Amino acid sequence: MASVTACCRYNESMSKFETEAPLLKTAIPGPQSLELARRLAQVESRNITCLEPTAPIFWERARAANVWDVDGNRFVDLGAGFGVANAGHANPAVVAAVQKQSQELLHAMGDVHPPAVKVELLEVLCSLYPGGVPAKGVLSSSGSDAVETALKTVRMASGRSGVVAFEGAYHGLSFGALDTTWRPEFRDPFLSQLAGRTAFAKFGEIESVRRAAEACPQPVGAVILEPIQGRGGECVPPVGFLRELRQLCDENDWLLICDEVYTGFGRTGKWFACEHEAVIPDLLCVAKGLASGMPVSACLGRTEILDHWPASEGEALHTQTFLGHPPGCAAALASIAAIRDDGLVERSAKNGAIALEKLRSALEGSPQIIEVRGVGLMIGIECNSSELAYSAFSEALQRGVILLPSGDGGQVLSITPPLCISREILDLALDILIECLL
Ligand code: PMP
Repeated sequence: MASVTACCRYNESMSKFETEAPLLKTAIPGPQSLELARRLAQVESRNITCLEPTAPIFWERARAANVWDVDGNRFVDLGAGFGVANAGHANPAVVAAVQKQSQELLHAMGDVHPPAVKVELLEVLCSLYPGGVPAKGVLSSSGSDAVETALKTVRMASGRSGVVAFEGAYHGLSFGALDTTWRPEFRDPFLSQLAGRTAFAKFGEIESVRRAAEACPQPVGAVILEPIQGRGGECVPPVGFLRELRQLCDENDWLLICDEVYTGFGRTGKWFACEHEAVIPDLLCVAKGLASGMPVSACLGRTEILDHWPASEGEALHTQTFLGHPPGCAAALASIAAIRDDGLVERSAKNGAIALEKLRSALEGSPQIIEVRGVGLMIGIECNSSELAYSAFSEALQRGVILLPSGDGGQVLSITPPLCISREILDLALDILIECLL
């Protein structure tokens, strides 16, 4: 397999991913972070960085599962920077690949005179497509980009533009993707600008998908889902749901889009979460952990679906200036090689199961905890109030552990560390979190 050899080339300087315990030198946030927050408030639009009620910590460097802030405090990162750093923050092989590629070719003409490395990345990505079916792809930069490509592909392939998505879903905030994102606070200010071609079903309920399809304002071309909802609060559907959904899609000639922007690249203990049920999607959106820290994404799909796009005659119908960005492609190749060669998918499955068990036995008797759930290193602790989740999130930060709330009201604590995190440090960080919750 030529493509795999190509990605191994970047794997010469793999390190051991050492992560250390938290080490705090100042109050959190420290004086430098507070000063940066003050300056940021003057220059960044107010809807972006949350500066209240406590200022954020400003990151200075990160390595494996550690983050250091501008005040010299060392944290353990249980979030992997929004689920991105699957191979570890600043994985040495990824950094080396970016350095080498940047020195040789920083930018090319993605869809006109492309960089060679774009071919290598697409070959590797297509070789990883679930089920080993022939696949093709379109590269891009963000998760939303990949979802936009998938939605346009549905129109190209089916001639229909209605979509069934799920309550709790998060597919991005660009207009096409936002139409399929559930949360009202994201949608409502822009409702009049949305296409309104999406109907929402209850996550995990197949009958609800049928009903939503009937209610959809336009003929349905596809169902889009996260096999495990990420920002929706680490929601895991009942076993068998994805398979039933695949069958329902086949019966109705709907395409199945798996948005694995969050769940992909080992996050759930398989390369892709749809593989837990041996389901082959028609389209697969990937980003985040794909490159472990560079903004690269892709919409992959079965060749017969992608081939509904017409051949480019000079003007690509759907493209971007930075499509196939060379350092991003090199980073993705190195990250995939690191995930594979260091056994990070298996590690995610194993350490995730141990972490889930630990959290369940410590927390599930507590009246304040609704549920502890997850698959692999994608775990959610649902609290009985968003106040409790927020106070645990803040107290954990004060004690050197970074994590994020998720779920509609922020009532879930989301645990998605770099897959390389050591068992000992994961254990220690979870002990801190448990203390913050009890
Ligand atoms: N899909 C899923 C499942 C996501 O979790 C996200 C981001 N959290 C997106 C799409 C959008 O990705 P981005 O923020 O890179 O546009």
